[in-house]
Amino acid sequence: MTKRRVSILGATGSIGQNTIDLIARDPDHYDVVALTGARNIGQLARDAIKLNADIAVTAHDDLLDDLRAALAGSGVQAAAGQAALDEAAARPADWVMSAIVGAAGLAPGMAALAQGATLALANKESLVCAGALIKATAATHGARILPVDSEHSAVFQALIGENIAAVERIIITASGGAFRDWPIADLANASLAQASSHPNWDMGQRITIDSASMFNKAMELIETREFFEVSPSQIETVVHPESMIHALVGFNDGALMAHVGPPDMRHAIGFALHWPTRKTLPVARLDLVQIGALTFRAPDETRWPALRLAREVMERGGMAGAVFNAAKEIALDGFIGGHIQFTQMADIVAVVLDTANRDGGALNASHIDATMTLDNVREVNHLARKAAQAAIKNRAG
Ligand code: NAD
Ligand code: MG
Repeated sequence: MTKRRVSILGATGSIGQNTIDLIARDPDHYDVVALTGARNIGQLARDAIKLNADIAVTAHDDLLDDLRAALAGSGVQAAAGQAALDEAAARPADWVMSAIVGAAGLAPGMAALAQGATLALANKESLVCAGALIKATAATHGARILPVDSEHSAVFQALIGENIAAVERIIITASGGAFRDWPIADLANASLAQASSHPNWDMGQRITIDSASMFNKAMELIETREFFEVSPSQIETVVHPESMIHALVGFNDGALMAHVGPPDMRHAIGFALHWPTRKTLPVARLDLVQIGALTFRAPDETRWPALRLAREVMERGGMAGAVFNAAKEIALDGFIGGHIQFTQMADIVAVVLDTANRDGGALNASHIDATMTLDNVREVNHLARKAAQAAIKNRAG
């Protein structure tokens, strides 16, 4: 039996650890090529040794000595820095999990596609920032991208055997996050700890806060547009507090195909790992009688202005997604760092999008509409981050 060569980018995070959980249950089937992480050297080294990886890479040069020390005598190579991350992703593999958080996941994901690997894409930021670019890279190299976000995995599964031309609409569900039942007037004073706890899903801190603000759902609307190439008007979201239905696809005969499952990312990860077959996965089986009822609410754009901003980005297309994501990342840093209030994150992103729409400044339309290359996505990312930092200074000052 030939083993499948797999790499995990962002191995120490929530998605990375769930991926390792699945792979470690079936060690004879996998040959682990590369694991990458950032500051959690202990976890990275432990997993690299346990899975007998060829190489472990930290994003931080200053942690190379620590990683070497933690791997001493194991036979696992150590490397550090951005170029090493890209090199690890470029090592021949059959399947690569893209689970770095943020725009930092774009370049390593591109490197994995360029060597023809199947890219299991959890890093939604890559599609939001550079959808056209990563799809073109996959096409050029005959590589496949499989969605790992639970909603997009659900849509992908609902579309098996279907013709996309028969799709009328795609509905992705949103739990509503930490503050769905809060009075809107209280949101400005939401604390970091309150925003960092999710009612249904156990995820990394950044995506958890993005769920409370609905920036996560906003990103997922754009991700839906990029992945399935339907028009923005065909994409909807609905608040579904139980997080059991992950998405629904509506067809031209009125049928709605829903994907139902427990809120456990090992389902979407396992589906991408075993695709095109299905294999037994260690996720809970739902007891519908015990659940009793599933409920739905309209998404309120006053409570969650990020949803309105996502519509603006989808209409605009081009580099607007890169601007949006960069501004959102800096606004989130600003909230985590205590420099702005929870509700100011959306204000910052709106200001940066407005700046990008105006002619004149550095972040003007000529950049926004430029042909997409990794370099100009990086430049737009850089400029939008600077614009967001300036906007935060204005608010906080
Ligand atoms: P996380 O914060 O738990 O883990 C992030 C990983 O990226 C870690 O391994 C970290 O070391 C690494 N990392 C962080 N900054 C880096 C940098 N600058 N360079 C290189 N590596 C870096 O995040 P997560 O919750 O696992 O999410 C990962 C991605 O998957 C995100 O794009 C997120 O939106 C997406 N996603 C997550 C979930 C979930 O359930 N956690 C669900 C759907 C999609
Ligand atoms: Mg999701």
